[in-house]
Amino acid sequence: MDIAVSLCRAIVEKMLSGAAQMGKYPKVKTVASFFVVVLLVTGLSIISVHIWGGKPEEAIHIEELKIDDEMTLSEFGQANDLPNNVLKELFDLKSPSDLGKRLDEYGTAEQITVMATRKLALTSEAASKNWVKIPLKFGLWFIFLPGVFLYCRKRKVTSVTRKGFLCASVLIFGIIMGADPSPMGTVKDAIHLYGTAQAIFPPRMIALMIFLALVFLANKYICAWGCQVGTLQDMIFRINQTDKHKTIIGKKIVLPFTFTNTVRIVFLVLFTIVALSWGSDIVEPIDPFKVYNPMYLGLGGMIFIGLLLVASLFMYRPWCHLFCPFGLVGWLVEKVSRVRVSVDYDTCIACGKCAEACPSTVMSAILKQDKKVIPDCFACYTCRDVCPTGSIRFSTRQRTVPPMDHFKKGKKE
Ligand code: SF4
Ligand code: SF4
Repeated sequence: MDIAVSLCRAIVEKMLSGAAQMGKYPKVKTVASFFVVVLLVTGLSIISVHIWGGKPEEAIHIEELKIDDEMTLSEFGQANDLPNNVLKELFDLKSPSDLGKRLDEYGTAEQITVMATRKLALTSEAASKNWVKIPLKFGLWFIFLPGVFLYCRKRKVTSVTRKGFLCASVLIFGIIMGADPSPMGTVKDAIHLYGTAQAIFPPRMIALMIFLALVFLANKYICAWGCQVGTLQDMIFRINQTDKHKTIIGKKIVLPFTFTNTVRIVFLVLFTIVALSWGSDIVEPIDPFKVYNPMYLGLGGMIFIGLLLVASLFMYRPWCHLFCPFGLVGWLVEKVSRVRVSVDYDTCIACGKCAEACPSTVMSAILKQDKKVIPDCFACYTCRDVCPTGSIRFSTRQRTVPPMDHFKKGKKE
């Protein structure tokens, strides 16, 4: 027993002295933390996927149906590997003898193809979902997000609490609860399913409405603290930041919003055209949500996600700003959100610390009141917590225009 206690003490002391040593070398600590995060996320996710039963959680593929007007229902089933119970549901059959009826009694080949493809797609969708995990995950979102919201409204979000919330979100909504469902999936998979089978999966529409309602009620809170890929990128970005919001390795990359948003719009348009024209999903091979399902990633996907995570060290949420379909839709809904970040110019001393600390270009756009192109605000509270006069609020307060020359008079003390 004594030996075990001594051994534990020696290990803990070794770890503490290692951490202290690391503190002296912040760049080494940043690189080491990055690899630890990536290895822990992928490693623990593999274990989690096995525990849940290891479903691929990827888009369904409906093969082109083999069909001929002169076939009987039974022959149609054999040609397409459809068991009798599926045929019964597809054609609403009353008795087994109905399997001998000809297909043309149920419509033209084209009508039957559309109807069967749609029904098969919806059945496959429903079968591919984990119906225990999905409501459980939404339940956890409904507990976690209001908790973070209330905490952030009342208290200062220090670098430690921010990392704690991000870490908890990655662990709960990513590693433990997996890649699906996700805010992005509700937009991307809905378009893809419509493209492949002209079908709309009602549970996905409900999920999308819930996510958009969250954005309407509380800004991009779901993206800020609940999305498993958004929080992972945010966490990695913060690894490379000091407590004073300075970059430790390299320089912070801030791309103009007009550029990032144009890329995001073009990407969504391209995705939609390809999905509707050819039924393909161009996001699938590089889907960053598969970081929580790494065994279903190909080499291209691994390289892309690896680069994306490295880019997150220097750029704030590259996937959200450049590619995410929900990022774009959420940004539009954010314009009518009840809660928004705003500045009280009566107490603002024009020091510009908020814009400097904002990981994106949002705060500088707000200060300039460039109303039409205010970028996505991820409700990270960095601006509010660096403001020396407490002039920044997340509330239903309307944004006002800064008084003329407010920022031209120079920095006030
Ligand atoms: S924008 Fe970012 S945080 Fe929001 S759904 Fe997309 S990946 Fe997640
Ligand atoms: S720093 Fe402020 S304005 Fe910038 S993203 Fe965070 S909450 Fe939004």
